[in-house]
Amino acid sequence: ATPTAVMVATGVGASQGVLIKGGQALESAQKVDCIVFDKTGTLTIGKPVVVNTKLLKNMVLREFYDYVAASEVNSEHPLAKAIVEHAKKFHSGENYIWSEARDFISMTGHGVKAEVSDKCVLVGNKTFMSSSGIDIPVEASEILTEEEEKARTTILVAMNQEVVGIISVSDPIKPNAREVISYLKSMKVESIMVTGDNWGTANAISKEVGIENVVAEAKPEQKAEKVKELQLAGRTVAMVGDGINDSPALVSADVGLAIGAGTDVAIEAADIVLMKSNLEDVITAIDLSRKTFFRIR
Ligand code: ADP
Ligand code: MG
Repeated sequence: ATPTAVMVATGVGASQGVLIKGGQALESAQKVDCIVFDKTGTLTIGKPVVVNTKLLKNMVLREFYDYVAASEVNSEHPLAKAIVEHAKKFHSGENYIWSEARDFISMTGHGVKAEVSDKCVLVGNKTFMSSSGIDIPVEASEILTEEEEKARTTILVAMNQEVVGIISVSDPIKPNAREVISYLKSMKVESIMVTGDNWGTANAISKEVGIENVVAEAKPEQKAEKVKELQLAGRTVAMVGDGINDSPALVSADVGLAIGAGTDVAIEAADIVLMKSNLEDVITAIDLSRKTFFRIR
């Protein structure tokens, strides 16, 4: 393609809300034969809502959520925000202030820990509980499986080294996610999903969107490793993500695409920004690139 053609295509992209940061990204996009998608906020809406709470101990919900919210109010994670929003419902009309959380620790991809009045509170996933030396009772495991089969993300709550409750959070897939994945297939582009979420939820979501190749419980570096593994197999890889935890993978990919509504770190790391945060624009970008580079040959 001539520099003029690249310039024109970049302009067309921009007018459609597809921000292409340079000719190299535009050229690579036409060679892409597989796309790695992040789950939360990319394939799903990204606004999780608490839909269920199961208590294993004799405790009232309002008291339970006072401890949990006091810990999570210090976290920026979307799951933390969902929990705090839910906890507020138990105090509607009141001017409630959560207890002070001492010794707050946030563990990326695991959860949070804090001392709240008389209790040591841990909120997070199975890995976080195990690595903190907390046993997961059979009763809890059964609830986890049941909820994860419904495509819900599960969060365990432990107080003083004992699992006391499970919070289920729902984050539905975007309305056009399934259609986009199916259309990419018709363009001979394979889709893969990577997520920090648990395997049960990941499998249920991937089934809903129609993706067969899944990697769950992945740390940020493992998302990038998946990209590199595909590249070593001779593939040209695009990565689509929205979070800080996606940025290493966005950088590693031949083409990194960030969801416009995502975090600044992801937008910075990407080659292409989807300003309208519409998954369909992944197709727009590839299409634009194919047209630009095939036409001139
Ligand atoms: P994703 O790749 O889906 O964006 P993350 O890497 O952000 O996921 O988080 C992975 C998992 O770590 C979450 O599904 C959750 O189980 C746990 N987690 C992380 N932060 C928190 C938190 N603040 N509260 C509870 N659980 C958390
Ligand atoms: Mg995400």
